[in-house]
Amino acid sequence: MVTVKRSLLSRPGALSSEDKADNAPFKYVAEQFADLQLLRYQVPGFEQLSLQQKKLIYNLSQAALEGRDIIYDQNGRYNLVIRRLLEAVYIHFKGDRTTENFKNLEIYLKRVWFSNGIHHHYATDKFVPGFTPDFLAQQLHAIDAALLPLERGQTVDAFCAEILPVLFDPTLFAKRVNQANGEDVILTSACNYYAGVTQQEAEDFYAAMKNPTDASPVMYGMNSRLVKEDGKLVEYKWVADGLYGKAIQRILFWLQKAKENVENDSQKEVIDQLILFYQTGDLSVFDAYSIAWVKDVHSRVDFVNGFIESYGDPLGLKSSWESIVNFKDIEATKRTELISSNAQWFEQNSPVAAPFKKEKVKGVTAKVITAAILSGDLSPATAIGINLPNSNWIRAEYGSKSVSIGNLTNAYHEAGKGDGFLEEFVYSDVERHLIKQYGAIVDNLHTDLHECLGHGSGKLLPGVDPDALKTYGATIEEARADLFGLYYLPDARLVELGLTPTADAYKAEYYTFMMNGLMTQLTRIKIGQQIEESHMRDRQLIARWVFTKGAADQVVELKKREGKSYVVINDYQKLRTLFGEFLAEIQRVKSEGDLDTARQLVEHYAIAVNPVLHQEVVERYEQLHLVPYKGFINPVYTPVKNEKGEIVDVTISYAETYSEQMLRYSRDYSNLPSRN
Ligand code: ZN
Repeated sequence: MVTVKRSLLSRPGALSSEDKADNAPFKYVAEQFADLQLLRYQVPGFEQLSLQQKKLIYNLSQAALEGRDIIYDQNGRYNLVIRRLLEAVYIHFKGDRTTENFKNLEIYLKRVWFSNGIHHHYATDKFVPGFTPDFLAQQLHAIDAALLPLERGQTVDAFCAEILPVLFDPTLFAKRVNQANGEDVILTSACNYYAGVTQQEAEDFYAAMKNPTDASPVMYGMNSRLVKEDGKLVEYKWVADGLYGKAIQRILFWLQKAKENVENDSQKEVIDQLILFYQTGDLSVFDAYSIAWVKDVHSRVDFVNGFIESYGDPLGLKSSWESIVNFKDIEATKRTELISSNAQWFEQNSPVAAPFKKEKVKGVTAKVITAAILSGDLSPATAIGINLPNSNWIRAEYGSKSVSIGNLTNAYHEAGKGDGFLEEFVYSDVERHLIKQYGAIVDNLHTDLHECLGHGSGKLLPGVDPDALKTYGATIEEARADLFGLYYLPDARLVELGLTPTADAYKAEYYTFMMNGLMTQLTRIKIGQQIEESHMRDRQLIARWVFTKGAADQVVELKKREGKSYVVINDYQKLRTLFGEFLAEIQRVKSEGDLDTARQLVEHYAIAVNPVLHQEVVERYEQLHLVPYKGFINPVYTPVKNEKGEIVDVTISYAETYSEQMLRYSRDYSNLPSRN
């Protein structure tokens, strides 16, 4: 259901496997500006794919890039206008490129590319430009007006009067997604999913479509903009002959080509249904496509291309456009299959009380994939795990596919090497050595245990409402999955199964988990604010609970050295016991729907931050010049043709810079008008 954003899942800063001098050539970190860092990712195994698979990936990667403009327009009605005017100035600027104004314009443009619009990709508030309105107006007058996205007949003066406030007026389009209680979240959100419509009107419009007795409802409203025209509500569908049609037609062109290179019939069925959906906008076809996609488990190559996640709509109905093309990492997937096939053993041997255990448990096989291209709402900032489709009845009836993206996780680990994070925050060389040696392995393993077993373990007592824990439910659920993994990481069974290399390796994850939960994840929180996001709450809940419960025995300590705080773990075995005790309690809370305890636990341990420690951690982090948000530059795929024009190979290169890539995409895949 959730596309797990890396920013939510993982610690800031870095973990690293053993530093090796011989893997130096590939540079993972490309550049850094504002609060963002651009990384590169490798696509290991691409060269070994068959020619047909390479051609399929090439076709699908083109289909992915052709949709890029859609997410800009979905994120805000002026985003394409602003991207294009900034690119025009950036390319054709004749003056001094070293002035503060120009440098800040460049940073602003890079941020627009990163967020697919003028709002922060994570916080969703509007950027504040570091250049002046006068500077921009001057540049817009200085370049050929034909290069600007003017409306027909519009003068440059009129254009400036229209656009400058969009960039500079802090009250205009202030937030992309406003969720504030009590406000009209549609009228106060800058996203472009509704026009002239109030929240009440939108809610009524879609409520009227729903039939409460329909056991297999389509996802109403997911592929359209809702507009009020002459007092009437109208849906503008995103289809080949409708809104965003110019981009969708290009996507269709490449999907047709992809069909010539499919691996098998079930993959062909997926593409056929997707083509039909883009042509018709029929939501029951989208369901048929989703079912075909879930059933296609044997193909090596897989992809998502379409209107998928609804985080960008304050009502959670409209789906943002995204694409990822990938292929299965066969070796790494053996690991998750091994975990899943032992699911029953893990369930039986957990410290959870018998009435709350599942009699028969089925592990989810999360395959590990290698991303080949990212686009739309998945680029440059992206997810490290995906679980789809989102339709509840399809999930219940046909299941879902859960994937973790191995080469992106690896890029995060590699990029963190030598950035000073471990040196600054880890207590001593003993822990640092463990983390460098085993950190990446046990971190991945923890994620696998969390996804493949944790969420699927345990059961509700008869009659307990699945939503009984209300707003505390998400935090408790994430804590449950995390604790299941933490409890099992040191287990001898994992060494027996070959999942952990040594009996001590788990200590790397225990240490980083506690350091993150007690201290370093606070680098993501602005000074003066509390913890909101449920994965972050889950980690602080666990870390503080075991810290408090083990205080008398000094299981875990926060020690000061030269004015700096450090986490010290004195007794790893006792810590495991505490994780087990807390797992049993959290599962009881979930199984019984014990809202009072859930509230007490979350309110007491998970939300508030210690302001002194917070300030200290943020300052130490800033001194390392580290930034909390990361995104990715895609590789470049180039078909190699013979004299007859047939593709005989597809090569991959990683040489492009961030700006080169963004400008090339804007030039070659500029499919939509500036105003839609
Ligand atoms: Zn989870």
